[in-house]
Amino acid sequence: MSNLSGKGRVYRGKNAVLIPVVAVALALLASLPFFGGQKTMREPYGGGSAEARFFDVGQGDSAMFLWDEGAILIDAGTNASQRELVDYIEDLDVDVIDCAVFTHPHEDHIGGADYVLEAFTVKSVIMPELSTDTVTYASMMECVDEEGCPVYDATPGEVYEFGDVTLTVLSPVREYDDANLDSAVVMIEYGETKFLFMGDCEEEAELDAIDKLGSSAFDCDVIKIGHHGSYTSTSEQLLAATTPEIAVISCGKDNEYGHPHRETLGKLDELDIEVYRTDKNGTVVISTDGKNVWYSK
Ligand SMILES: [Zn+2]
Repeated sequence: MSNLSGKGRVYRGKNAVLIPVVAVALALLASLPFFGGQKTMREPYGGGSAEARFFDVGQGDSAMFLWDEGAILIDAGTNASQRELVDYIEDLDVDVIDCAVFTHPHEDHIGGADYVLEAFTVKSVIMPELSTDTVTYASMMECVDEEGCPVYDATPGEVYEFGDVTLTVLSPVREYDDANLDSAVVMIEYGETKFLFMGDCEEEAELDAIDKLGSSAFDCDVIKIGHHGSYTSTSEQLLAATTPEIAVISCGKDNEYGHPHRETLGKLDELDIEVYRTDKNGTVVISTDGKNVWYSK
């Protein structure tokens, strides 16, 4: 069991009604439209190394931080990519997910949450205190209830420890009327390296969080850019606070929103930040030895 040290826990899992979800993906991974048709076996890390995988889930978000002793999932992609996502995680030899962070209840982030919860043992869930009336959300919550694991509200300042890995919640620092702004923003630390996952957080919430927690709380090596590279996110203040070496943008090829927007790409380019995109690079893997970070593929 992970050493969860968070406070202010809210357990939502009660009175579960099991609605069976078909979690067995029959299609061969090589024939699937996502993940670039690659089957990728994970090598044992050993000797103090880890990696973040930003899955190509089309126009959506899903990433996993993996180290020898565990795995943390941040978002679960779309309904359309859910089978492929489960297959991909299974190919990484993951059976147990120590923590699943569902940043906010939009379909492009929680579409595959029900499949993931059915397919793997999920030991804890972190999500903002937010609900919607969509079928996708209801399906996820049924599976969360069935899983019976603790569910924690995303509360800034809360720290969760998973052996060598620490997860800190940084946003939302208040309630908003917009689910994107309510996104749970989390920092994952491994050794001296830090990975920041912005969900679909946008400028207003970025500034509020920096104001409340201070710039240094956001300093990182790798940033998963907010809201698929929309111009409404990734403020200059956020980039000044984060000073990342590497930025990853999760978005679909030729998506209808025009993500990532040129304003965002321009800011990253100006600061000489390495940029990788799931629409161009496919699934992006960033490795760390606890001191340095680098693009693996
Ligand atoms: Zn999104």
